[in-house]
Amino acid sequence: MTHDHHDHNHDHGQEPPSDMALRVKALESLMVEKGLVDPAALDAIVDHFEHRVGPRNGARVVARAWTDPAFKARLMADATAAIAELGYSGGQGDHMVVVENTGAVHNLVVCTLCSCYPWPVLGLPPVWYKSAPYRSRAVIDPRGVIAEFGTALPEDIEVRVWDSTAEIRYLVLPERPAGTEALGEEDLAALVTRNGMIGTARL
Ligand code: FE
Repeated sequence: MTHDHHDHNHDHGQEPPSDMALRVKALESLMVEKGLVDPAALDAIVDHFEHRVGPRNGARVVARAWTDPAFKARLMADATAAIAELGYSGGQGDHMVVVENTGAVHNLVVCTLCSCYPWPVLGLPPVWYKSAPYRSRAVIDPRGVIAEFGTALPEDIEVRVWDSTAEIRYLVLPERPAGTEALGEEDLAALVTRNGMIGTARL
């Protein structure tokens, strides 16, 4: 929590001004009204980017780090470049930092001011990530927040909270689960969840 939010840069387009949101809503209504688009299809598209496309990219990064020590070393040294090796780069991911969970440390990512999020590896942020309660409570009571997401962290584990900005986007590298030695990269990637890469879950 070292960065200064006073300079928080909002020209990255992640949090549209309300008039932009209204324009989008108006366009959506018009398209539905004219029969150009099915609202269910729109929901499906958003769901696709929030749950499928986005987080699966991050899961592949995690699985590669678990299976390839040289990649992991590059990832920890320069996450933006290492992630780009897998083809994930661009908007909202220009300066990525990976923080590693261990048996002694658990990392949690938040954007206290708005909703900065690593789009190339996680897709669209979930609604709760952008909510005021999460943004404030993740800092004040990270353990409580993580518990509400269903994970009771051991008492002796240190919790570190990372505040994303327009300049730096964090990705949590979860700990590889025990008993997965025989699994290949694809199977390992399937174990990794979006919440695990935000830190509201361990995996
Ligand atoms: Fe933000």
